[in-house]
Amino acid sequence: MSKMFPRLDEVYTGPDENGFFGPYGGRFVPETVMPALLELTAAFEDASDDPSFQEDLSDLWVDYVGRPTPLYQARRLAEAVGLGTVFLKREDLCHTGAHKINNTLGQCLLAKRMGKKRVIAETGAGQHGVATATTAALMGLECAVFMGVEDIRRQSLNVYKMKLLGAQVIPVDEGSGTLADAVTAALRHWVERVEDTFYVLGSAVGPHPYPVMVRDFQSVIGLETIDQLQGRGIEKVDAVVACVGGGSNAIGTFYPFVLAADLFGSPELVGAEAAGKGIDTDQTGASMTLGTPGVMHGFYSYLLQDDAGNPLEAYSISAGLDYPGIGPEHAFLKDEGKVSYEPVTDDEALEAFDLLCRTEGIIPAIESSHALALLPRLAKRLGPDATVVVTLSGRGDKDIDIVREAGLGSE
Ligand SMILES: *Cc1c(COP(=O)(O)O)cnc(C)c1O
Repeated sequence: MSKMFPRLDEVYTGPDENGFFGPYGGRFVPETVMPALLELTAAFEDASDDPSFQEDLSDLWVDYVGRPTPLYQARRLAEAVGLGTVFLKREDLCHTGAHKINNTLGQCLLAKRMGKKRVIAETGAGQHGVATATTAALMGLECAVFMGVEDIRRQSLNVYKMKLLGAQVIPVDEGSGTLADAVTAALRHWVERVEDTFYVLGSAVGPHPYPVMVRDFQSVIGLETIDQLQGRGIEKVDAVVACVGGGSNAIGTFYPFVLAADLFGSPELVGAEAAGKGIDTDQTGASMTLGTPGVMHGFYSYLLQDDAGNPLEAYSISAGLDYPGIGPEHAFLKDEGKVSYEPVTDDEALEAFDLLCRTEGIIPAIESSHALALLPRLAKRLGPDATVVVTLSGRGDKDIDIVREAGLGSE
C-alpha cells in the first residue's frame, strides 16, 4: 500500500512551529510540561519524514484495522432524505468499531520508536481508552488509562474491556469526575513519568503537537475517500459531512479536501456539532455555535466557558461529543470560511440513527448520527440531485442502552 499518512504541505493551513493555526492552538501548559512536548514534537517530525515509520503504520492500518474502509453508496438512505447520492465512509468497520484506532496506532508506534515502555491515556466514554488498550496489547506496551469516577460508573462495559486487554484503569476522583478531570490528571502524571511514558491523546485537541499529529494520522480517512471517489469516476461532490467532538474524525476527513479544494467541484465541508437539548438551553455541547475563544487543556480555541473563563460542562446524548472545546484547526477553518459547523440536537440525531438502521441495516454510533442528521437539511439546500459524503465515525453497539431508553425500536 503506497498511501501513507500525509505531510501535505503544498497548501499552508498551519500549524507554525509553535503549533498555531492562525491565532488558535499553541502550547498553554506549565513550564514542567514543555520539555515533554518538545521531545514529542521532534520525534513526531522525525517519524513523519521516515518512510519506514509510515510503512509500518500503513501495514497495521491494512492488516490490523482492515483499511481501506469501504466507501458505501447508501441508495435507500439517499432516497429517504431526498438526495441524489449519499456515500458513507465506513469507519464503523475499523477494528474496535470506530476511527479512534487510526490515531492510537500512530501514537503507540511513535512511543515505541521513542523507546517508551509505557503509555497512558485519558478517556471519557471509554472509547479512546479501549482503542489505546487494544493498541498497547498489540505492541507489548504497558498501559494505564485515567478515567473520572463518574464515567467509570456510567461506562462499565468499556472499563471491563480495558481490563481484559491488560490495561490498568486509574480512577480520577476530582472535580466532576469526568473527561476534563481525567485529562488534567493524565497530563500531571505524564510530567512525573516522562522518561518511560508516552501520553496517547484521543482527539485533535491539546497542546502542540497533538492537534497536528492526530490530524495527520486521521487524514487517512479523507485520502482514502478521495481515492475511492476518483476510482468510481465521481466528478462532482456537493458536500462532505462529519461529526465533531474534539474534531479528529472530522479533521481527518476534511483536511485532504481542504488541500485539494479544486477536486470534485469544491464541495462544502460541514461539521455537525452536538446541540444537546438545544442551543437555547444550557444542556448543549455546541462550542462552535455558542462558544468563544479561550484556553483549555493546553490550547487556545473556541470553547464553552463562563464569564471567568472556566470551561462549562458540555452536554450531549452522545458521550463522544460532550466536550466543551474543539480542536484549534477547526476554529481556524471556521474563521477562514473553509468549513461550516451546524448544531444537531439529541432528538435529530436519534431520528437519523433510526433512519439508518431501517434503510440500510447499519446501526451507527450516536456521534455519527449527528452527521447523518444534516442530510435532510443539505437536501433542502442543495437539491434532489446533490451528492454528499458522510463519515460514519463508528458503530452503535456501545449506544444500544441509550437508544433503547430513548424508545427507539419499540414497535
Ligand atoms: C470519540 C468519537 C467521536 C468524537 O471524537 P472526534 O475526535 O471528534 O472524532 C465521534 N464518533 C465516534 C464513534 C467516537 O467514538
